Amino acid sequence: MSEKLSFVHPTANSPWGTYLQQVDRVIPYLGDLARWAETLKRPKRALIVDVPIEMDDGRIAHFEGYRVQHNMSRGPGKGGVRFHPDVTLEEVMALSAWMTVKTAAVNLPYGGAKGGIRVDPKKLSQKELEKITRRYTSEIGIIIGPHTDIPAPDVNTNGQIMAWMMDTYSMNVGGTATGVVTGKPLHLGGSLGRVKATGRGVFVTGREAARRLGLDLRGARIAVQGFGNVGSVAAELFVEAGAKVVAVQDHTGTIVNADGLDLSKLIPMSRTPAGAVGYEGGDKIPNEQFWDVPCDILIPAALEGQITAERARRTSARLVLEGANGPTVPEADDILAERGVLVVPDVICNAGGVTVSYFEWVQDFSSFFWDEDEINVRLDRIMMNALHQIWDTADRHKITLRTATYAVACERILMARQERGLYP
Ligand code: NAD
Repeated sequence: MSEKLSFVHPTANSPWGTYLQQVDRVIPYLGDLARWAETLKRPKRALIVDVPIEMDDGRIAHFEGYRVQHNMSRGPGKGGVRFHPDVTLEEVMALSAWMTVKTAAVNLPYGGAKGGIRVDPKKLSQKELEKITRRYTSEIGIIIGPHTDIPAPDVNTNGQIMAWMMDTYSMNVGGTATGVVTGKPLHLGGSLGRVKATGRGVFVTGREAARRLGLDLRGARIAVQGFGNVGSVAAELFVEAGAKVVAVQDHTGTIVNADGLDLSKLIPMSRTPAGAVGYEGGDKIPNEQFWDVPCDILIPAALEGQITAERARRTSARLVLEGANGPTVPEADDILAERGVLVVPDVICNAGGVTVSYFEWVQDFSSFFWDEDEINVRLDRIMMNALHQIWDTADRHKITLRTATYAVACERILMARQERGLYP
């Protein structure tokens, strides 16, 4: 945060600052609802918790954890939990706000929330990871719950961590509350299709955008930054559709091959400590050169703020698919638009994950589970319907897909706010 802890004065170049600028851009399209727009600029609630654990060597270590509920006008908070050494309250505020916009953009009955712990989980043993997860869950237990705020996986968190969160919450309330988190393992109330849902959504929106651009996926060159849950799954689906992945960057470095990287070898390698650069079928290049690799489609699927103004000028991509949350800074957005590069924004592009999380939550409540085909068909339909509505809005107002997504979403959020009225 800036020197004075404040919702409305972001640190320079911070994700929260990016989000506030994105809101400012949509206000002219909100009509009378604009009088409620300030609501979007302030999280409803932000909790900071101390997470102390005893390490394997006997030391007592303290970590900082956060849970932010940005807006709950349309339903319970929904959003992932991130374990990363650079997590800050301000970042979690931005991520929670993007969840508010995202759930409204695809019309799910949720608000937006997000959580995180400032920790490098790669430096923890499995036992320490379990302890930190359980203590964090217990600390934020006062504000999460199946009807209030439902966490899910995000960067460096997964089904196992969701299982520990579900168990800890259940132990504290007495009972088995499967609906408190999504992204759980299958036999604990998880949903088929959840693990691949975000990457699948990136592919579905990308396929549609490519069709509208007249960009043939067969032979299309793809560059992917971030090769985890989102990036690797999206890459696989594009390859199935005939594209080739020419560059991949992860936290270990960047590898390229103009003839296409072999994902059947690259994906397993990227899951090992060696990371993507352990793969031998490509050339290793300095990270900054990733942005110069000739490509048709660029998929940022790592962290925020990656597409800067300077990188936006350099990319040869015609289409940017935002798998990550907040990967493009506002100035870069303008440059891409001027250069005729189409950006499918995060708040619709990566909404597949929260959509199948919603299916998981519904299945948990009804204790009736759907097969994978049903999930994928419903996911496809929801994403396509949302995208078409957003595209029509963009065409009508001659605005970018990002501003159009905000227009559709913020109208829903502020309409709900207005209809509910202010308490007391
Ligand atoms: P993940 O932990 O599975 O993978 C993250 C990837 O990013 C890894 O390959 C890692 O090596 C790479 N990475 C980390 N730091 C990097 C750096 N400095 N430079 C290059 N690569 C780096 O995480 P994920 O779940 O795939 O999430 C990726 C992005 O997608 C995040 O922005 C997340 O918020 C967003 N997202 C995830 C989901 C989901 O369901 N998992 C849903 C919506 C959005």
